[in-house]
Order: sequence, then C-alpha cells, then structure tokens
Amino acid sequence: MTHDLAALQATDPQIADLVRAEEVRQSEKIRLIPSENYVSQAVLDACGTVLQNKYSEGYPGRRYYEGQQVIDQVERLAIDRAKAVFGVDHANVQPYSGSPANLAVYLALAKPGDTIMGMALPMGGHLTHGWSVSATGAWFNAVQYGVRRDTGRIDMDEVRDIALRERPKLMFAGGTAIPRIIDFPAFAAIAKEAGSVLVADIAHIAGLIAGGAHPSPVGHAEVISTTTHKTLRGPRGAMLMCDERHAKAIDKAVFPGLQGGPHNQTTAGIAVALREAAEPAFRGYAASIVANAKVLADELSARGFDLVSGGTDNHLILIDLTPQGVAGKPVAQALDRAGLVANYNTVPFDPRKPFDPSGLRIGTPAVSSRGMGETEMRQIGAWIDEVVAAVAKNDDDTLNATAERVLGEVREVTAKFPAPGLS
Ligand SMILES: *Cc1c(COP(=O)(O)O)cnc(C)c1O
Repeated sequence: MTHDLAALQATDPQIADLVRAEEVRQSEKIRLIPSENYVSQAVLDACGTVLQNKYSEGYPGRRYYEGQQVIDQVERLAIDRAKAVFGVDHANVQPYSGSPANLAVYLALAKPGDTIMGMALPMGGHLTHGWSVSATGAWFNAVQYGVRRDTGRIDMDEVRDIALRERPKLMFAGGTAIPRIIDFPAFAAIAKEAGSVLVADIAHIAGLIAGGAHPSPVGHAEVISTTTHKTLRGPRGAMLMCDERHAKAIDKAVFPGLQGGPHNQTTAGIAVALREAAEPAFRGYAASIVANAKVLADELSARGFDLVSGGTDNHLILIDLTPQGVAGKPVAQALDRAGLVANYNTVPFDPRKPFDPSGLRIGTPAVSSRGMGETEMRQIGAWIDEVVAAVAKNDDDTLNATAERVLGEVREVTAKFPAPGLS
C-alpha cells in the first residue's frame, strides 16, 4: 500500500501481511484515541534505517564505542531542534519512552522513600506520577491530587494544601485525561512555596505547545518530560528538557543510570518530527486539533452528553456516560465495530471499577492530521450518539445493524481523507 515491503514480503510474508492489515485498519477507521496519531512518511523512513545497527552509549562527543562520526551528528541535530522548538537550554533525546523518561527524573532528583506528588491516575494523571501499582508508587511516598467535583478541573487549592503539608521533592503537572489548559504558572508558584521541583509532563500536549496552541511550561517547570509520539507526531520515544541547573543530573540518570544504548533510528525520527514541528504548517495543525475538539465537544454536549469539566481547551474530551445508562467499555467496543476507535476511561470520582469504568476518552490529533474539519467532527458526534443509543437499547440486532451502517459511512469519509504515511 505505502511502504515498499518487498524484502519483508519475501522473508516473512506473515508479518508483511499483518503490517498491511494494520495499514488498512489505520486508513479505514476513524482513530479517536487522544494519545495516538499518524507520523509522516519522512518520520517512518528515518525510523526504518541502518542507524539502528549502531551502539552509541554515551552522548555526542563522549561515547563508549568508536564509529560515531554520523550518529553524533544525528543526535546533535535532534537536540538542537528540540532546544529551538521548545525554547529550552538543555534536551536529552535518548529516553526510550515516556515512562522511562519519568523514571530518569526520579533517579536524577529524588531518593527512594522521598515524598513525591502527582495527579491520581483515576483523576486523569499518569501511572508514573506515583500511582500505587507503578514502581513510582511503590518506591516513593506518593501523595496525589485530583479535580474538583463541581468543576471537573484540577483543584489548585488542594494541590497547595497537600504540597505545603507534605513538602514533596517532586511535583508532577500533566496527565492522560485532562481536557483543560494546565496552569503551569500556578503550579510553579505552589512548587516554589513548598520547596518542590516542578516537573511538567507534557506527553499529551507537546505538539500543541510546539504549535502554539497550549501555553508552554518553559520558565515555570524546572524539568519538562514528554513523549514524542502523541500530538508531537514523531516516533515512539521521549525527551527530557531542563535548564543548565539540572542538565548533568538528568543526562546521568538517563545514561548510565537507567538505559544503555540509545535507539539511534528513533533519534533520527525525532529529529525529523522536530523539523516538521518548526514549519509554519505545524501551527495550523495544532490549531486545528483544538478547533476540532471544540466542535466535537459542542456537538456531543448538544446531544446531551456529560463532558468532564463541561468541554475542552485542548485535544481531548472525556465523556461520562452515566446519564446514558451505559458503561465505557461496551461503548468503546461497539464504536470500534462501527469504525470509530476510542478507549474506555475512568472519570473523576468514578463509582465503577477501573477495568469497567463510566467514561469514554476521545481526541482529535489523528483526525486533524488527516485534515478533517468541522463537518466531519459534527458527523463523528452524531455517530457516537447513534452507537451509544444502540448500546443502551441492549438488543444485539439493533447494535449489529447500527454498527454495520456506521462502519460503511465511516469508510466513505475516511476514503476522502488519506492519512499521512498511508497515502
Ligand atoms: C503517555 C504518557 C506517558 C508515558 O509514555 P509511554 O511512552 O507510554 O511510556 C507519561 N506521561 C504522560 C502524561 C503520558 O500521557
């Protein structure tokens, strides 16, 4: 379909067929998982190269293996572009993914048993911000904040109360199900008062920040952690950014503290994604993500859906399905059959269990990368409404008929919006 898979086809037709099947899935379906996207063909190209054959433990100019004439240049380009796009003093582009990047922050700036603070996972935080089942919850004394019941927004009074009482070493701001702008200056003021290091985890919103569609934590957070594969639209990987004060500690924590050789093909892909993020067109992409999310939220609200916090400022919408009398999981499964891929999610103060919660999480990065706009967002809102109504009827025939009809309509729309890397 897209990539030349001739060699793969000859060596391993099973895997080649599966790659093609995934290409068809990503092409035909409407992907609404807010942490997912489509990378460009250029990023795909960079990631499938011989750069992956090289061991490069260390950093440019300070390696433990010879033969770094080319790799040093690749990594320096990625670092320089990260510094330019985000306006930071220092960038480390080696973390294998977002979770190891966060572990490196702990290793750099805290000791096991220290108090650390983050948003609780069921409130919209991330596992690595101190949730109990994560190493970060087991090895540190994690204290957790949440959102206000009445507004669905982060409770900054609670953040301050907990911070001044517990004096955490690290304070994480960021998460996986936060539909509103994160107030980095407010977090920074509290962190300063409590003597904490503020870590902005911008994994979800890095592309919005790079594209000017969300305020930047630079100048407020001492350390910034991000994945590169969500709204930033690069390969699966991560970066840590900071000012000179923490540069040495962060670098030492990533290597040799936590990792061995960096994945050089990924570093190249990150460099390409950052070059794309520096183009004027990227600002239009970031703006369209937010505009699309607002239209979709508006359409869903008009159809009677209860959106956590009442709407969205970013790429993400969290729907509480309680009023519809259905749970998140059966809805996510039905939507997938109808060609709309989302994920079930806890909502704040969810009375249901984490594996069978009340919420549905959707987002607009991938559809925006395909160039979809207001018409398609309103249509997606209507489809979600129809599928939820069919699930609520609790009748297999109704659900089958609805899912089949919507899937057909979805295919007609996706055919008109070729996806990057698949066209
Ligand atoms: C996605 C995410 C991570 C973890 O990234 P992985 O690459 O999945 O390990 C960390 N923090 C936040 C806020 C995230 O959204």
